[in-house]
Amino acid sequence: MRIDQISKKYKIQNFIEKIRSHLAEYNGELIFKFGLSNTRRFDGEFLESDMIIRCFIDPNSSYWIGVLAHEYAHFLQCISGNKFWINFQDAIFDNIEDLEIVFHKDGKKLDKRLRKKISSCIIKMELDCDKSALKIMDKYKLPVNKKEYRSKANIILYKYLYWSEHGEWPSLTNKKTGKTVDWKNLNVSKLMDQKQYASYKNIPLKLRYLFAQ
Ligand SMILES: [Zn+2]
Repeated sequence: MRIDQISKKYKIQNFIEKIRSHLAEYNGELIFKFGLSNTRRFDGEFLESDMIIRCFIDPNSSYWIGVLAHEYAHFLQCISGNKFWINFQDAIFDNIEDLEIVFHKDGKKLDKRLRKKISSCIIKMELDCDKSALKIMDKYKLPVNKKEYRSKANIILYKYLYWSEHGEWPSLTNKKTGKTVDWKNLNVSKLMDQKQYASYKNIPLKLRYLFAQ
């Protein structure tokens, strides 16, 4: 299926048009890629250097529309000079070359204080972005399962917090059995106040236990 057919199917032509024209004002671009979600590390991204939003489409569900709203919200943070966005850029560019490597490989090599600084900046920025993405979903009446979106977002925020403490990126997949926990039933679908994500001790116990397995 082509993107215009897909956007018609989900009745989100307006939203996609809005993103395309908004990005074009900044010489940016919206790029869609197709593929199954288990074959890649990320679902979408916004690149400030080129003003590009890349979003992966898995036409079997509407999850990717939430991802698109999220990346668009990052773009809005960027063009509005949002303080959390700027703090994040400062924290990263002073200290880090490749975020992927830091989170998934070299976490333990970083000083714990630096990990805490990085994760704190990221959590504030992502939380702000998620709240904005949820408003975008309402504004454009996007067919996204918001409870699922909030659960996923919440788990990722707690993952950053876990990483800041241990230097290891947690997974909901059990290393021995290869089984992934059913995150939809973890009852973590409420996005919390920023303070909740400031201390490792605030990670819900069941989640902490799963992260550590
Ligand atoms: Zn994000």
